[in-house]
Amino acid sequence: TTAPVPTVFDTVESEVRSYCRAWPVVFDRAEGSRLYDENGRSYLDFFAGAGSLNYGHNNPVLKQALLDYIARDGITHALDMSTTAKRAFLETFHSTVLAPRALPYKVMFPGPTGTNAVEAALKLARKAKGREAVVSFTNAFHGMSLGSLAVTGNAFKRAGAGIPLVHSTPMPFDNYLGGRIPDFLWFERLLEDSGSGLNDPAAVIVETVQGEGGVNVARAEWLRALADLCRRRDMLLIVDDVQMGCGRTGDFFSFEEAGITPDIVTVSKSISGYGLPMSLCLFKPELDIWEPGEHNGTFRGNNPAFVTATAALQTYWRDGVLRERTRVQGNRIERALVDLCADHERDGASYRGRGMVWGIEFTRKERAAEVCHRAFEHGLLVETSGPESEVVKLLPPLTVSADELDEGLDILARSVRETG
Ligand code: PMP
Repeated sequence: TTAPVPTVFDTVESEVRSYCRAWPVVFDRAEGSRLYDENGRSYLDFFAGAGSLNYGHNNPVLKQALLDYIARDGITHALDMSTTAKRAFLETFHSTVLAPRALPYKVMFPGPTGTNAVEAALKLARKAKGREAVVSFTNAFHGMSLGSLAVTGNAFKRAGAGIPLVHSTPMPFDNYLGGRIPDFLWFERLLEDSGSGLNDPAAVIVETVQGEGGVNVARAEWLRALADLCRRRDMLLIVDDVQMGCGRTGDFFSFEEAGITPDIVTVSKSISGYGLPMSLCLFKPELDIWEPGEHNGTFRGNNPAFVTATAALQTYWRDGVLRERTRVQGNRIERALVDLCADHERDGASYRGRGMVWGIEFTRKERAAEVCHRAFEHGLLVETSGPESEVVKLLPPLTVSADELDEGLDILARSVRETG
């Protein structure tokens, strides 16, 4: 056994970490689907900033747009002032994303992170309905601030124990109970029962695929039934598309396949396309009820992020090419996972996913972490997800090449074999 390589964490004692991520190298540069450590060793990145790098690292088109903008002294910080970069983003977002899908949304910049978008969505829903309760789902992940944590699944509420996180009720996500629940009769019964504690919810918040929760995929008919229930029961439907949006499942929005139109949508991670902090809260026009100053924040106007976001939309969302590519590459991953799970049937290997997000699980839960560790040694970055870190999550950039995909899937298969 070799001695562990010191990381920045070990060598620079001033860094305080609450992160669990512990790849024992210091990374230095990145290009496309690859990261390089300070010794020049290359790693295929099937983690992609937890879904923030759908177009890969330092995407050349986005990089050039950013370099041009900086070279001409474009504004970097503008709070919520109007700027040409912001206008270009809004016009492009409308023409490439909203108008072609006939989506009526107003666009709000709630702050730099996904959590900021979720906070804005929850506040807006509660203000619009004049009610406090919000329904969320088992194993959901919506953020780490107290409001977003309140609607996040229990397994992720590690810190802050004892702080009352009120006004949120978790319900079983699709398939949580093992079987197929055909409708939401049970939910309606609880809504009608004054003793159930559900207390007239203002909104329901849901991910169409739970990323952090273990790659749990909601069926389209389940999502449609949920949307229908929300409409009938006067609850707003919030889809948190922070991780699954921007093309991860194939469509720009992950809810498109189900044919639903949520009242509020949160977007972040890959919206800037370059790993620059940016988020959106989208809502139907009738929810445009904020008073000036009701939801503000210093870093709401990240203009370099507007610039790369505009370039990403113009490059990848003007036609259906990326969508088709995601379908083809997603099928390639699925075929590899079918073989992998057949080879390891005795270990209870199973897979699930959609588009370019996939998860693999084994009977022995610790195996997921072992696979990720082996994969790192062989030059592939993958992470675990799920309440017990029991799922290996694959999240390659959407721009990954077929050769890189095969290389990564080969390393994955080898890592699974070696941990049997
Ligand atoms: N919602 C979802 C679905 C997420 O996956 C995440 C991040 N993993 C968040 C919200 C929080 O986003 P951020 O970390 O940018 O605050």
